[in-house]
Formats: sequence, C-alpha cells, structure tokens
Amino acid sequence: MMPIEFYRNIPRKQCCECGEEMHEMHECYFNECERCLSKTEE
Ligand SMILES: [Zn+2]
Repeated sequence: MMPIEFYRNIPRKQCCECGEEMHEMHECYFNECERCLSKTEE
C-alpha cells in the first residue's frame, strides 16, 4: 500500500455552512468553521 493512496482517500474537511476549508487539529469536533460557529451562538 502506498502512502499517497491513503491520503487521497481522506476527504478534505470543510465547513458545512460556508464551505471554508478547516484545519483538522483545530476544528475536529465541529462541522463548521470558527466564523460560522460564533455566528450561530449568538
Ligand atoms: Zn463557515
């Protein structure tokens, strides 16, 4: 198995609200980016 194949199968994590690409280590528990999260909390 090649490592490249493995990484290609991992979907990019995106905000379900605006489609913004997210950094997984920061946003791993949410489906929305920081901007949309703070927006919905109001
Ligand atoms: Zn967003």
